[in-house]
Amino acid sequence: MATYMERKNLANTDIDDARRTSIVDGVHRVLNGIEQACERSGRDVGNVQLLAATKTRDVGEIMAAIDAGVRMIGENRPQEVTAKAEGLLRLCAERGFALGAAQADGEDGEEGEPAGGSREHIPFHLIGQLQSNKIGKVLPVTDVIESVDSVELAEKIARRAVARGIEVGVLLEVNESGEASKSGCNPANAVMTAQRIASMGGLRLQGLMTVGAHVDDERVVAAGFAHLRRTREAILASGAPGTELCTELSMGMTSDMAIAIAEGSTIVRVGTAIFGERAYK
Ligand SMILES: *Cc1c(COP(=O)(O)O)cnc(C)c1O
Repeated sequence: MATYMERKNLANTDIDDARRTSIVDGVHRVLNGIEQACERSGRDVGNVQLLAATKTRDVGEIMAAIDAGVRMIGENRPQEVTAKAEGLLRLCAERGFALGAAQADGEDGEEGEPAGGSREHIPFHLIGQLQSNKIGKVLPVTDVIESVDSVELAEKIARRAVARGIEVGVLLEVNESGEASKSGCNPANAVMTAQRIASMGGLRLQGLMTVGAHVDDERVVAAGFAHLRRTREAILASGAPGTELCTELSMGMTSDMAIAIAEGSTIVRVGTAIFGERAYK
């Protein structure tokens, strides 16, 4: 377990006014940044969603972001999901939001009602590496697992999902930069891997995800994002069973959000620009 989890109470719901103000300002700054980047690249702002990357942030901080307009949450570690789930589910329900798969599957609605009844759904994504022994822990709350990087991991998730009688969204994570520190499948194998995953029961392949190259040269960062977009086009054009929903491009973080939007990102995953620097890794 990461040591910060022993030092910080992630279930905390109390937040002081100064901290709340700084998070609200952060959300507004990022939403404005998305709008400007869309304008510059001639894209419709409705086609880019903001995912708040909430690792190391507590329930109170995350709810402040939701109150400021965030409508998609991404966590990295299953242990953090467990620590925060109860508080987040309760406070979202109080505000009339259905958070994640747990509240979206219509458990408390009448039969035949749309998912989560009439409440607005806030999707919950897993964006960090997933060990196979943690799959069971995250499936009940997760709408989309963005960090699927192999056929083997996909098969394990698919087996669990089929056993639960559900279908979970997945993105194929591709290591476009080739940096050894990053996870993701080899770009050369991405189309084939996506086709295999798309054919599995219990999974819905919704798109691709990558983490931008850690370099100063913006052209190198942009080239990786553009390659992910072309990979998505190749997957869609293949017409292979199950690939027709492979439309999302989850790319762009605090440092490279505008570049990613210019290259076609549909989901930007932002932590630091909303919440400030992380005190813990
Ligand atoms: C932490 C994280 C982010 C957000 O990073 P920031 O630089 O804080 O915006 C996005 N994606 C993944 C996979 C992350 O782990």
